Amino acid sequence: MAEFESRFAELIGAEHAVAVNNGTTALVAAIQALDLQPGDEVITSPFTFIATLNAILQAGATARFADITTDDFCLDAASVQAQVTERTKVLMPVHLYGQAADMTALMPIAAEHGLAVVEDAAQAHGATIEGRGAGTFGTGCFSFYATKNLTTGEGGMITTNDAVMADKLRVLRNQGMRARYEYVMAGHNYRLTDLQAAVVLPQLDTYADQVAARRANAAGLSERLADIEGLVLPTERAGRGHVWHQYTVLLPEGVDRGGFVDALAAAGVGAGIYYPKPVYDYDTYRGRSDVIVTETPVADAVAARCVSLPVHQHLQPGDVDTIAAAVRSVLGQS
Ligand SMILES: *Cc1c(COP(=O)(O)O)cnc(C)c1O
Repeated sequence: MAEFESRFAELIGAEHAVAVNNGTTALVAAIQALDLQPGDEVITSPFTFIATLNAILQAGATARFADITTDDFCLDAASVQAQVTERTKVLMPVHLYGQAADMTALMPIAAEHGLAVVEDAAQAHGATIEGRGAGTFGTGCFSFYATKNLTTGEGGMITTNDAVMADKLRVLRNQGMRARYEYVMAGHNYRLTDLQAAVVLPQLDTYADQVAARRANAAGLSERLADIEGLVLPTERAGRGHVWHQYTVLLPEGVDRGGFVDALAAAGVGAGIYYPKPVYDYDTYRGRSDVIVTETPVADAVAARCVSLPVHQHLQPGDVDTIAAAVRSVLGQS
């Protein structure tokens, strides 16, 4: 496990990496380590996997949402600025689909308001912005769940350049225990096993190749779909290194998404919807005082039109043609 930690830290360019049992745990621990008070707010993206919100609530904090941009599907800096209150303590950008959020614009906002930065990098192993790794701006939280670019089945990692934070996370991970019967905080069992760590080491050897394959697949899809009117294709923003966890398009307005996905499935193409609604927009979160709902029109619109097409490294030669042809045919393009 120590080898996994040091190699992962090296991969993303962080000084410290602390392995934990999953990505949700990574987020929970990263927030817990900040010693927030009840009512302290975390600003995050509403367009993410539900774990982002669940982790904030599990850690006893209050979630508040800023809107996203259609450029990168990540937090919009102007919207974040507008959501900061005197209770805001943490900024939690989500590096969605393998592309880093606009940290160049977000970090100054965090600095201005004295906010801690916790990055949900669960989908962004090795993504960069201006050459710097996602997960090295604040406390980085990664997942190694089966569907992620790197996997241990279940697993997570927390990265930081702050030695004090790294030490605190290591203690928190192991029952708050610094030495036998020396309990310095009320901790938990967040440990990853060596067995799980062993599974990912060979993947690290070939990860650059995997990302190159995903990048080529994304480029191939974009080339073949570029002329379809109203179809919005994903882009790699200037200065950012995308690791293409997902290749997510926005369907032309008015296209029935369920029908589109079903028709692709019938053609042998497995498309997914990540994510159909903003995370706060489910009954179980309504009326909670720790889930502060704001208007997020961009996230609403994106969630209503998004579809993710296969882009992973196991696509065979010709698969990109098949996927693109199926999309064209279902959308009535020759
Ligand atoms: C997968 C994921 C998580 C949670 O990671 P787990 O390992 O499944 O607990 C958190 N946030 C995002 C954006 C994710 O994609």
